[in-house]
Amino acid sequence: MLIRVLGSAAGGGFPQWNCGCPNCRGIRDGTLAAVARTQESVAISADGRGWFLLNTSPEIRAQIEGFPALHPRDRRHSPIQALLLTNGDLDHCLGLLSLRESHPLLVYATERVRVGFAEKNVLHRTLERFPGQVTWRTLKPGRREELLGVDGRESGLVVEALPVPGKPPVHLEGLMPPDPDDNVGLRILEERTGRVLAYVSGVGAVTESVRQALDGADCVFFDGTFWSSDELRTLGLGEKRAEDMAHLPVGGPAGSARQLATLGAARKIYIHLNNTNPLLREDSPERASVTTAGWEIAYDGMEITL
Ligand SMILES: [Zn+2]
Repeated sequence: MLIRVLGSAAGGGFPQWNCGCPNCRGIRDGTLAAVARTQESVAISADGRGWFLLNTSPEIRAQIEGFPALHPRDRRHSPIQALLLTNGDLDHCLGLLSLRESHPLLVYATERVRVGFAEKNVLHRTLERFPGQVTWRTLKPGRREELLGVDGRESGLVVEALPVPGKPPVHLEGLMPPDPDDNVGLRILEERTGRVLAYVSGVGAVTESVRQALDGADCVFFDGTFWSSDELRTLGLGEKRAEDMAHLPVGGPAGSARQLATLGAARKIYIHLNNTNPLLREDSPERASVTTAGWEIAYDGMEITL
């Protein structure tokens, strides 16, 4: 399985347009040992020809242009076979609206995520210009299914979605009650090699379902949004704790690094990093502590052959 990180930052990206925190300032003035990052999306492929995108960020256009394997091979063509959404957060699905140039799209999402994005949303009509412009295929938690491309070809990849602790996207709070299918982790099995990718880029706690998603995976992408619960408050950027936003922090005695210390995956990678996270700084003690524990920090352009 070929894996290419198109974007590795949380919502807002790094730096974020309206943020003057020490990280964002430091990357703008060139004094920080870090690289800029776009919002989270990862492309995967079994054959290097047809690609599946895990989440579709607002920066999708530049992300496609920055990765030649995703360029058209004909006058009207795209190697993108389908898009998979892990939740309805805008940093994960706003990019769909940028792919509106009359091209058939296949989108895998839970029914909850489809309803939240497609119904009562007048902008969704830009993906309804002709019959069949967008086809939604339901990710039914716990069901294993072959990933099919928009052209109906088999991909050699099997997907299973598992509900993991999350919440509805901010713009749907109060409109839809929380539901277990608001947020899923993905297990993707490559049939030819038996290799498994576990993708859990947003998660509020390590539960049995999360462990099931990670179990035996060869490569794990995990929620690296915040280092600590009170990261935003400490920096004077807001009152919400990481847990209020359904993100389990990486650091501390109850953090994910400690809870997942025995994870056996050959590659363990934190992704969806918020611009305030000290893990972004290559010379930070926080970075050194997770690196020592075998974790990697995703960056835009990171490639893995599984
Ligand atoms: Zn910032």
